[in-house]
Amino acid sequence: QMIYLNGEFVKKEDAKVSVYDHGFLYGDGVFEGIRSYNGNVFRLEEHLERLYDSAKSVMLEIPHTFEELTNIVTETLRRNELRDAYIRLVVSRGAGNLGLDPLSCPRPSVIVIAEALSLFPKALYETGIEIVSVATRRSRSDVLSPKVKSLNYMNNILVKIEANLAGVPEALMLNDQGYVAEGSADNIFIVRKNKLLTPPGYVGALEGITRNAIMEVAKEKGYDMEEAVFTRHDVYVADEVFLTGTAAEVIAVVKVDGRVIGDGVPGPVTNDLLVSFRQLVQEDGVK
Ligand code: PLP
Repeated sequence: QMIYLNGEFVKKEDAKVSVYDHGFLYGDGVFEGIRSYNGNVFRLEEHLERLYDSAKSVMLEIPHTFEELTNIVTETLRRNELRDAYIRLVVSRGAGNLGLDPLSCPRPSVIVIAEALSLFPKALYETGIEIVSVATRRSRSDVLSPKVKSLNYMNNILVKIEANLAGVPEALMLNDQGYVAEGSADNIFIVRKNKLLTPPGYVGALEGITRNAIMEVAKEKGYDMEEAVFTRHDVYVADEVFLTGTAAEVIAVVKVDGRVIGDGVPGPVTNDLLVSFRQLVQEDGVK
């Protein structure tokens, strides 16, 4: 496996960054998780736009043009002979001294890792998953916007730990007002009477690229689709619930906090959108 690291491709064993990298010391950096399907990188432009926006927001200058980064991503896939892959693109503040001041970091680190996929087990896409809501909150009042995909994932990790403790594969995070925000690394949709709802970005959800693709697909297919603020109650009484994310794609949720959702199996709207999404990812993308 070859990894892109600061201008060269190196073997996985040799892909090392400094312990003084502020990505390591402080979680100072930004990242993207991207997918390729059958050799096409899904919505690469949108992922790179989000990366540049995240970087700009935290005053981190990416030392590459958009075109260069596009080529680095596709070249990483080519070198690893991967057609269906999960791609991790990381830009950290780079190595500096022990102080947190980014002025000590002259050069950001740029890393691209491409691997074969590790999704939720296939069976879970057929049965749907159980989730719980957790105590960890997504704060809307942080200075750092939830739109920034930063390397500070402690909140999301706490969500995952709470999910592990509850023995479920994913969990639901509320915001500081108790409104439903998102999962540890996925967005949530609920369906009630054929109408789809997903929380707007301002409640504290990342505006996921899979989420946006599903919103487009849903509208094209004529579903009533709205960004709306909702509570756990609305989730419990929904006909269908599903999660979306680059890694998870579209996965049905059939139980939330012990409440069975709908009939307890993936519903028709979820299945319909999953089929359309799988078509879309085959057609759409950067070669
Ligand atoms: N929410 C969070 C916190 C995430 O980290 C991710 C994963 O990237 C998502 C949602 C889903 O976003 P996307 O569909 O762009 O992968």
